[in-house]
Amino acid sequence: MAIIGIDLGTTNSIVTAFQNGACVLIPNQHGEYLTPSVVGLDERGALLVGKLAKERLITAPHLTTALFKRNMGTKTKAQLGTKSFLPEELSSFVLRQLIEDAKRFLDAPIEEVVISVPAYFDAKQRAATKRAGFLAGAKVERLVNEPSAAAIACKQEGEDDTFLIFDFGGGTLDVSIVEVFDNVVNICAIAGDNRLGGREFDHVIFEAICAENQIDRNALSRQERETLLRLAEQAKTELQNRQEVQIKGTIQNRTVEMHLTDETLANLSGEIFARIKRPIQAAINDSGLQASDISRCILVGGSCHMKIVQEFLSLLLRVPVQPGKDMDHVVAEGLGIFVGIKQRDSEVRDMVLTDICPFSLNTGVYNAANPNKTLAQTMIPRNSILPRRVTESLCTVDLGQTEINVTVTQGEQMYEEENTLLGSLTIRVPKNMKEHEHIEITFYYDINAILVVNVRVVSTGAEHSLVLTGDGLELSGKELEHALRELQNMKFRSFHNQRFAFLQERAKRIYAEGNTALQAHMLQLIIELEQLERTGIIGGIRKQNAILDEFEAYLEQMEATLDNPDIFQDFSEFTFGEDSDD
Ligand code: ADP
Ligand code: MG
Repeated sequence: MAIIGIDLGTTNSIVTAFQNGACVLIPNQHGEYLTPSVVGLDERGALLVGKLAKERLITAPHLTTALFKRNMGTKTKAQLGTKSFLPEELSSFVLRQLIEDAKRFLDAPIEEVVISVPAYFDAKQRAATKRAGFLAGAKVERLVNEPSAAAIACKQEGEDDTFLIFDFGGGTLDVSIVEVFDNVVNICAIAGDNRLGGREFDHVIFEAICAENQIDRNALSRQERETLLRLAEQAKTELQNRQEVQIKGTIQNRTVEMHLTDETLANLSGEIFARIKRPIQAAINDSGLQASDISRCILVGGSCHMKIVQEFLSLLLRVPVQPGKDMDHVVAEGLGIFVGIKQRDSEVRDMVLTDICPFSLNTGVYNAANPNKTLAQTMIPRNSILPRRVTESLCTVDLGQTEINVTVTQGEQMYEEENTLLGSLTIRVPKNMKEHEHIEITFYYDINAILVVNVRVVSTGAEHSLVLTGDGLELSGKELEHALRELQNMKFRSFHNQRFAFLQERAKRIYAEGNTALQAHMLQLIIELEQLERTGIIGGIRKQNAILDEFEAYLEQMEATLDNPDIFQDFSEFTFGEDSDD
């Protein structure tokens, strides 16, 4: 039985384990570590997850969805054909796929899954993540904050250190301040922005393409929008290896173009950078440290590949800005080490990871100035080190009052109604004079982000308690069991050959994005592929692989002609004929 860790990302997800004293990243069926967090259904209703589904964002947008982690904890459903799914249901499909990959790779049943979440995920988002695990049929005891996982991975052997971790992914930014001494990795403060990531750069580029080419973005179809966003993302990524990029594509049979440099992108992104600054400031302030105590800034997440992001951080922090080992894998690597700690592997057994509570937990208190607006009194301030226990007393406010309503909220606002309500208890107290009946409220917040609230009536000794695991917030056990059965009935598409199926989707996507001339060129190929799908590729594995290599290289060339439609005439047509025999 194995324990695995899953970095369930907005854009990409990775699965890891801990073996022979080290973290191992587990490849998917394409032999890659990153599995795109994209989910779709095929025309027969079978599930698709990963890079094949990603191609279908363009060719079958009504059956495919991505970026659902951004809606985690909300009721926002994605429509896939006739079915609709909650974010945690979509996430459960990604988890199921990764668990399958892990089972195959480790050749062992999976006993438990540890999932990483952005530090800034609130109770609802965490609960939804746990539900996703449950719906994937996995036991999830523990969620680990992504920056905490990154911190374990970046701890350098035997060195005391204080550093800032800047985790900038596709949809979220997390900033954390970390202290390392002896075997302890201490998270001092975290702050972040749940809706700020690489995608924001894609959007500003997208807007600029529309403006420069006089495209009315409201008149774009979903597919055209996806195509432009993909072009924008591609240009942003290419810019990291080049001085300038010429964006070129076809929309509504018209060529659209734009010239992009770091400077233009920086100019377009003023607002994004202003937003990046806020959590950095907040984390430093909350840590109680000076900016000068921080020795380095560690880059994590795909968006840290951007030169303008790195330059911005260097100027702002005035410390060395370094990629964490491998920006795309750091969280997963830390998660793997965490799995090792959990397995009590001798290599990492003595390592201690502290964690903190990313938001304040409050209880409501009477507001004499305005009885209709209850105040939120902070019991456990944000960034407290876990576990934490706090006790406060409250008293009755009216003559003969027999009930006190104890509420639990999460958030930083002064008034209770502006924070998220997690639960409440109604406590009966004996009739007495105003302010003569007292209750003691204790909050105990443990390392798994489970809050136990205990209330004791001082005069009678009666005790009441409430356990908020976040789990039961929205769905009752019965509904969850029902959802589990429904989802488990949905099967993944089975493949004769994964790679062939992927290349076929890719060919269709290139067709969809090409202009009329390129489409004519691709059509014959796609028909031939469909025939081949029915008959199967003839020959042994080696011959099949050789054909697929050749085919992939051909598609790469076709992909390049998307950016530059004038050069496609130079290519001869590709055929899966005898000519590929040696
Ligand atoms: P998440 O943790 O949200 O799943 P990742 O850490 O995988 O996200 O980062 C994905 C983001 O990184 C995407 O917005 C992607 O465009 C961006 N990205 C990946 N590689 C590069 C690159 N070379 N240059 C610029 N941005 C990149
Ligand atoms: Mg990430």
